[in-house]
Amino acid sequence: MTNRVIPLADEQATLDLGKRVAQACEGATVIYLYGDLGAGKTTFSRGFLQALGHNGNVKSPTYTLVEPYTLDSLMVYHFDLYRLADPEELEFMGIRDYFAHNAICLVEWPQQGAGVLPEPDVEIHLDYQPQGREARVSAVSPLGNALLARLAD
Ligand code: ADP
Ligand code: MG
Repeated sequence: MTNRVIPLADEQATLDLGKRVAQACEGATVIYLYGDLGAGKTTFSRGFLQALGHNGNVKSPTYTLVEPYTLDSLMVYHFDLYRLADPEELEFMGIRDYFAHNAICLVEWPQQGAGVLPEPDVEIHLDYQPQGREARVSAVSPLGNALLARLAD
């Protein structure tokens, strides 16, 4: 499966990557976001949601675990599983419903939901660099592969 490495010089570049990935999404997609605290996962998600027409704030759903966004033609669920104590909690909150609909799911800290979360289409690793960040975008399903092929430069 394909892989792209993208330098992100500043916050705006992270927002722009979120926008580009959003524009390449067609229908239900699961995107895992990896990276240390402050690496830019929520910043990416903000760019992604704004590109799909969301105007308000994008806060990290650190305590609620998930924040739903009803956009023009689809739902986006933004997860932050950092504080998830046990992947089984996801079953109790009805995780299957979130992933069953025609929705896009952005998942920060997917490691925390291992074994319960559905498989991703795209994995994005955000890493600190001496200046800025670097993103590694990997397609891990046929749908993800098609998405990556559509990703604009
Ligand atoms: P995470 O969700 O991964 O914990 P956040 O997106 O909440 O990270 O925070 C990232 C921080 O780093 C923000 O302060 C943001 O302004 C900054 N940031 C985002 N992208 C970049 C970048 N490419 N270069 C430098 N700073 C960045
Ligand atoms: Mg975050």
